[in-house]
Amino acid sequence: MNTILLQDNYSINEKGNFTICGHDTVLLAEKFGTPLYVIDEDKVRQMCRTYKNAVEKHFDNGDVLYASKALSFKGMYKIAKEEGMCVDAVSAGEIYTALSAGFPADRIYYHGNNKMMDDINFAVTNKIGYFVADNLGELDFIDEAAKKAGIVQKVLLRITPGIDPHTHAKIATGNVDSKFGEAIETGQAMEFVKHALSKKNIYLSGIHCHVGSQSFDPQPFIDACEIMTRFAREIKDETGYEIEVLDLGGGFGVRYLPEQQNLDVEWMIGEIAKTVKKNCADNGIDMPKIMFEPGRSLVAAAGVTLYTVGHVKEIKGYKNYIPVNGGMSDNPRYALYEAPYYCLIANKANESMDYHADIVGSCCESGDVIQPDVNIQKAVYGDILAVCVTGAYNYSMSSNYNRFLKPALVLVSKNKAQVAIKRETFEDLVRNDL
Ligand SMILES: *Cc1c(COP(=O)(O)O)cnc(C)c1O
Repeated sequence: MNTILLQDNYSINEKGNFTICGHDTVLLAEKFGTPLYVIDEDKVRQMCRTYKNAVEKHFDNGDVLYASKALSFKGMYKIAKEEGMCVDAVSAGEIYTALSAGFPADRIYYHGNNKMMDDINFAVTNKIGYFVADNLGELDFIDEAAKKAGIVQKVLLRITPGIDPHTHAKIATGNVDSKFGEAIETGQAMEFVKHALSKKNIYLSGIHCHVGSQSFDPQPFIDACEIMTRFAREIKDETGYEIEVLDLGGGFGVRYLPEQQNLDVEWMIGEIAKTVKKNCADNGIDMPKIMFEPGRSLVAAAGVTLYTVGHVKEIKGYKNYIPVNGGMSDNPRYALYEAPYYCLIANKANESMDYHADIVGSCCESGDVIQPDVNIQKAVYGDILAVCVTGAYNYSMSSNYNRFLKPALVLVSKNKAQVAIKRETFEDLVRNDL
């Protein structure tokens, strides 16, 4: 078995080393140390443009929000700003990071299923553009905070359309019993709308749904769109209010494994657009502004993580372990929901991948697995192991478990490799310890 290059920004150079955006990953590991997150800035920008162009082509009025929980640090918000994106933030911390990077407050959408009064005040005081309110109680708080600030706050309402998007339970969010939003089926979504309309300091902009993640099929979006447009008509019939914005969420699929394909974004948006137009016409409502919120699909393929291999363990008659100098502290996704990853030995990228092993981390947990049962090049101590397509939900989910230091993050582009997040130090670890 030979190395498969999952993304068009990956290659193998004349030394047989794995490269990203033309940069030799073995040299990056040498220069910046390991574990190391490498993010290909050119790829991120290319993906932002792909989405923006597709939305512009298929909708007269549309916009793309970057769901910044996928990868949140100052440099990323600068890129999003330069690419003309809006961003989703799900915490005051993400809002703070975006604002620190100079991201315009009016292009921030504040999401999340549980905003406390302090968070709401923080967002209102910082004049963020929109709230995506999750529930009735939140509306009261937003109204109160807006009143205190002497403003009228624009709000979208998170609606649960009641769809099972056939994805892993931990990344499905559109079913009725989800912790997110108010459900149409139970009548609570309609109460939610009426409550928003009754609030003096809230301006209701529209409705939002997000049905899940890692979808290669337009069907969950099409189903959501049918339900949401029907709901928009019911709102109009019952209250006379017509939605201005319909936000269909994110969850576009990414190629993590050789047997998957990269999503044709333009095609996907085009398929969804056909349904939106038809459904709006069928329900007699004006075409609202359509928004999408891709997270992982903007950044996942732009990333690889580089580790140094430790002492390989071969348990005779059982299995082999390739341990690396990181693990669930920098990539908890296999431990959390068995996320698949493709791994290779970066300095042996042309060698045959016929060694069978589990790639494991250094944390004190048997569950600290980066990927089990992989076929990979035979590795020895000191080799560089690359985990592909780690741009999303790796750095943003990292922790200091076992007091491992969070890795550095390097942004690479055509002729440049620059640290965008410094590697943590021992000092950082004890900074808040009194
Ligand atoms: C997580 C999330 C997204 C992005 O999901 P991806 O799978 O990363 O595209 C978009 N919108 C909402 C509300 C989310 O919670």
